[in-house]
Amino acid sequence: MAKDFNINPEYLDALASALQTPEFLGDGDCVGENPNLWDDEDASLTAQGVALCAECPVRELCAAWGNKNEEFGIWGGIGGAERRRLRRGTKFVSMEDRRDDLDWRTDVAGRMSAADVARKWGKAEKTVYRWRETQAS
Ligand code: SF4
Repeated sequence: MAKDFNINPEYLDALASALQTPEFLGDGDCVGENPNLWDDEDASLTAQGVALCAECPVRELCAAWGNKNEEFGIWGGIGGAERRRLRRGTKFVSMEDRRDDLDWRTDVAGRMSAADVARKWGKAEKTVYRWRETQAS
């Protein structure tokens, strides 16, 4: 007889949100180029990266991904500071933060002791117990 698994829907949402990948990058003009051109730190390198983005066949997809997911770096020719300006007034949670959230939820739902989870994440043990209650509901 099949066993029923009760997986918290919030956990599934976090999983879906954090595990997307920018597959379009494989079709981008940055393939094989110096990755530092898209670091958005050195203005002379950034200018070269932005110039390559301008002709890239997946530029719009890349810009949309960057706007939705990325805090740093050049995506679709747009740097982090410009994206912050474009997003002003809207709620934004970066992909990095969503992955951290997923790691946290995974630890809370896992077999690690509450004390170890609390120590790993710098939180109170009580916080872990409270989260475990909400994850189980
Ligand atoms: S738009 Fe720029 S960063 Fe994005 S895939 Fe194309 S070359 Fe790479």
